Amino acid sequence: IAEEKLQDSFPYSPEIMAATTENLVTLGELKKAIEHCELSLHYQPKVRIADGMVCGAEALMRWTHPTRGNIPPGMFIPRAEQSTLIQLITEFALKQAMEQIVVWERYGIRIPIAVNISTRNLLQPDFSDFIAKLIDQYGIRAELLELEVTEGSLMVDIEQTVAEMMKLAGLKIIMSVDDFGTGYSSLQYLHKLPISFIKIDQSFVSRSPADRGAAGILEVAVDLAHKIGIKAIAEGVEDEKVYTFLHSIGCDMAQGYAITHPLAPDAFKSWYERCNG
Ligand code: C2E
Ligand code: CA
Ligand code: CA
Ligand code: CA
Repeated sequence: IAEEKLQDSFPYSPEIMAATTENLVTLGELKKAIEHCELSLHYQPKVRIADGMVCGAEALMRWTHPTRGNIPPGMFIPRAEQSTLIQLITEFALKQAMEQIVVWERYGIRIPIAVNISTRNLLQPDFSDFIAKLIDQYGIRAELLELEVTEGSLMVDIEQTVAEMMKLAGLKIIMSVDDFGTGYSSLQYLHKLPISFIKIDQSFVSRSPADRGAAGILEVAVDLAHKIGIKAIAEGVEDEKVYTFLHSIGCDMAQGYAITHPLAPDAFKSWYERCNG
């Protein structure tokens, strides 16, 4: 699992990788990281394929350890998910993203910011109330907050998850299914969920169009989204060929290194202004 996670991560230096795999982070260290403000969010744009306009951003967690350097989220999020510490991590991400929404709105950057949510969060009975309070506290418009829920987490407790997602969507928060194609979600539930987007997993995207099987699945996923009245985003778009293919099959949005790596807030702002300005 660790290896798979690493591949899907920002290219950190090999020295750092080795250091972190040798001494996996402990929950204590992670707790300290939160207290000592070592965590931050970087933002990766989501662009509309039809015209190249930026129409969203995904918040991705970064941990700058004082001695070990950058520790990728694949090294600590799964660890946090094994405990209630994930609640603190999610709270941090939500607050930080909401602060960013306020700041960007001031600069005329009005795009939803997507925060990654864990299975455990959706099983917290008061999760939607908690988010409603934060939205109120930060005074943001709920439409500027998006939550990405992995396809895999949807099926853990479907009743509870659907109920919580209904409440969140009722608040006008945008809901997306992440890593689509990897989580065996039941098609029976998919059209009942209050979702606006499916994010097609990068394993299908990066192998398309050369791999006919992957390309076929990608195309079917885009059609499926459209048939149930929602939009499709391809993640992990690494080159122009993939982008052209996505355009040809009518995929709505794209995200990936071909557009840009995740960026720190200031870099994101300059990048956005060059693109949409
Ligand atoms: P994810 O939600 O599927 O996020 C996409 C990952 O793909 C990110 O890795 C992103 O940097 C990377 N990526 C973006 N474009 C490309 C591309 O063109 N090619 C390739 N190979 N990769 C690309 P990152 O930032 O290392 O995050 C890894 C995972 O950690 C995320 O996968 C997500 O599951 C989790 N994660 C990150 N931040 C958070 C967070 O704040 N909360 C939670 N619960 N999970 C998070
Ligand atoms: Ca995501
Ligand atoms: Ca994903
Ligand atoms: Ca992933």
